Amino acid sequence: MSRRLLTGGTVWAGAACAPRSTWLLVDDDRVGAVGDETGTTPPPPADQLLDLSGCHVLPGFVDVHLHLSQAAWFPLGVDASGWRGLADALRAVRVTAAAAPDAPWLLFWSVARWRWPEGRLPTAGELDEAAPGRRVLVSTLDMHRGALSAAGLAATGLAERGGASKLGDDVTCDRRGRPTGELWEAAYGIALQRALADTIAHVGEAGVQAALQGEANRCLAYGITHAHDPYVSPEWHQRMLALHASTLLRLAWGTGSVAGMHSRAPGPAAAPDGSYGDSGREVKLFADGGDRCALRLPTRALVGLLGGAVAESWRLHATGPLREALRRRLVVRPRHLDAPYLRYTDTELASLVAEYANAGVRLRIHALGNLAGAQAARVLRGVGVPPGAATIDHLLLLDPATADHVASTGVPVSYQPGFLPRYGTMLKAARADRYVTVLGGRLLLRAGVPLALSSDHPCGSVDPLHNLRAAVERRLPGGQQLQPEQALTRTEAVRAATVNAATSLQAPGGGGLAPGQAADLVICDGDPFQEGTRVTQTWIGGKLAWQAPEATGGRPSTPTRR
Ligand SMILES: [Zn+2]
Repeated sequence: MSRRLLTGGTVWAGAACAPRSTWLLVDDDRVGAVGDETGTTPPPPADQLLDLSGCHVLPGFVDVHLHLSQAAWFPLGVDASGWRGLADALRAVRVTAAAAPDAPWLLFWSVARWRWPEGRLPTAGELDEAAPGRRVLVSTLDMHRGALSAAGLAATGLAERGGASKLGDDVTCDRRGRPTGELWEAAYGIALQRALADTIAHVGEAGVQAALQGEANRCLAYGITHAHDPYVSPEWHQRMLALHASTLLRLAWGTGSVAGMHSRAPGPAAAPDGSYGDSGREVKLFADGGDRCALRLPTRALVGLLGGAVAESWRLHATGPLREALRRRLVVRPRHLDAPYLRYTDTELASLVAEYANAGVRLRIHALGNLAGAQAARVLRGVGVPPGAATIDHLLLLDPATADHVASTGVPVSYQPGFLPRYGTMLKAARADRYVTVLGGRLLLRAGVPLALSSDHPCGSVDPLHNLRAAVERRLPGGQQLQPEQALTRTEAVRAATVNAATSLQAPGGGGLAPGQAADLVICDGDPFQEGTRVTQTWIGGKLAWQAPEATGGRPSTPTRR
């Protein structure tokens, strides 16, 4: 048994995560005791003393929506977030093709195409001209839309008419019915899965474990003690088990279709048996898409949305934004306006939800727009799914009635305030914030929803401190606040990123830093809400899982094995 006393710092203590200047005793793998609010209780004897003057001790961050198995491959591709338009894209594709003649795929990530004057991604024809004969995948930042070269389309089975037509609207075709290279949702997911499978075959199993380890270590360095990957292909299940056995990071994941993340989940028979790491079996279902989210707005929003697109086109001196806005399907009814992008009918979703729930597989339902949120709530209630057996993810665009409907299910919601700095300007330019709440944390809390805070890395920033600040400050890159009334308090934000998140996974950490709880904790070199404060140590089950290189005298820290 080892008893280590952390003194001199501020401890965000208990299930309430209330900060107080006090000490904390780590007794082997658990929290042994915490000093009270008055700070007058004398600390108990210990084997080791850590002076944490000026530091803050928080419960370990539990990220319930972090695409670890996909983000692990980002370093093998090119970060395209800085591209300002098609010319940048095609130049980079040309350069990368020449630099990587053996790569099975040329992968480009995180395109913010809404900032481009063209608004659209390159076509297969344009990609072929830049990189003749190569398999190219260009992914948007939200990972719901992408572009493939002709060789990419062929490798993915989307070049033939049959392959593409099965996927309907998810494959954009020209007037003669030939795929243009633009893919959405399920088709994009299939292409991504194909590209990653070929890349994995190229690097070999040792390369796979190195990539996954690298991503796990990145999580630890940000103070994440538990990462939950919402979708791991059943074919990758064993690799996640191997990673789980080789890292201190708590790890859990959901399953889905072998075809790809956005494809329809095939039913519980296809879900791997046995352990899913540190939480129960889970499946991910998509009620709506990304760009194509299912949204209901008041009819008057039509003028606002169109005005927003015109203003963006004016600002960029290009027709791209307007053309993209006009491509969006909209159904105008007397009292409201629908973007009708639900992926399932209620009946289809209900039967799938019932099948998984009856098999004891927890559900994670992606619902970005309020129409999707309402459908998820309606279906969960209709099927009678108990609160602990499901989570709804995102609810990016929400209204009060839907929030109440979601609250009535009792299920937790995971939201991503870290999206505000990334997508907030775009949503504001589209004027969505005039008609619905954007990442309405306060709305959800007021409705009584158990709220977890997650990253959706790599679509959002992985850094929990960045995401906590975004939940509280709600600032756009220019410094302007978006719907400041939706802000959480600091303790609410910390609770959402730790205690509530752990509870939603029925994983260690649900009681916060309190006696008897697992000693999963994060030490920061200052106030976590102060810009510039960083994580210096990450502890899991009482073990030091990561520490900042400077804290070890400049030596790079090595991953700790279980
Ligand atoms: Zn996601």
